[in-house]
Amino acid sequence: MVAQVIDGKAFAAKVRAQVADQVAKLKEENGITPGLAVVLVGEDPASQVYVRSKGKMTVEVGMNSYEHKLDVDTSEEDLLALIDKLNNDPAVHGILVQLPLPKHLNEDLVINSIDPSKDVDGFHISNVGLLGTGQKSMVPCTPLGCLMMLRDHHGSLSGMDAVVIGRSNIVGKPMAQLLLGDSCTVTIAHSRTKDLPDVVRRADIVVAAVGRPEMVPGDWIKEGATVIDVGINRIERDGKNKLVGDVDYASAAERAGAITPVPGGVGPMTIACLLANTLTACCRANSLPEPEGLTA
Ligand code: NAD
Repeated sequence: MVAQVIDGKAFAAKVRAQVADQVAKLKEENGITPGLAVVLVGEDPASQVYVRSKGKMTVEVGMNSYEHKLDVDTSEEDLLALIDKLNNDPAVHGILVQLPLPKHLNEDLVINSIDPSKDVDGFHISNVGLLGTGQKSMVPCTPLGCLMMLRDHHGSLSGMDAVVIGRSNIVGKPMAQLLLGDSCTVTIAHSRTKDLPDVVRRADIVVAAVGRPEMVPGDWIKEGATVIDVGINRIERDGKNKLVGDVDYASAAERAGAITPVPGGVGPMTIACLLANTLTACCRANSLPEPEGLTA
């Protein structure tokens, strides 16, 4: 079997176009422009790149982008004061604090100081609890993007066996909750899982979110399974820098029914879902119907 490639780049462009349409409608019919505030503390080069592309895409879909760049030695008090200001600013519907934060700042405290209804990353403990209990919440962007691709490919996921490899708070755990919400039978595998190959071989859906280059070989994949590769790993091969996932793409594509590539799979969906979440937050804040197909 040669797997169908799930084109995350094209799918993300479709999601962004849907968001842009809804934003145009909100402006025209309600006089409202969704606004996303991104807070960056320090000068981490990767974070700077992410923040820049988030800002650019926010503007491209017609939303307002508010960037707050703070010095690396910003005090917790000052950062919390800025978040308080953004929480109370009606023009701001979504707030994202770029992680990781410098060591002297308490990440949990900072994230939990964001108004949960503006927490477009879905990391606030209230949103984690709401998702865990199957209630309306803000859903973390990367797992939301994976869910959208899976729903688009399969229609219903009900009754499917899903394995999520990785148990982080930002990907693995919320991904498992979302799959459970769609009535999959879910296994969460991690670094202490016994006989990982055997666990993966039973799965109709494999979501790999580990951060280890090409650790899942093709012969772990059940014939016809759908493989969602969240991993982004920079490696050097043949003297060149290359991005690879957590799955060995070449061998997995020979057995899977469908697979996301790296790059061009989950990655582009993450920012598209951030925009979708900002739109959702804006609609909820204004008691307007939520955009269809853009939430969990
Ligand atoms: P993390 O380091 O927080 O978590 C990794 C998880 O993998 C841990 O729960 C650990 O138990 C598990 N693990 C480690 N070694 C293992 C092994 N040998 N077998 C099985 N499980 C093992 O990482 P994260 O933040 O969840 O990110 C995971 C990967 O996804 C990284 O490559 C990251 O860059 C990528 N990522 C991509 C996006 C995107 O937009 N595409 C977003 C977030 C993260």
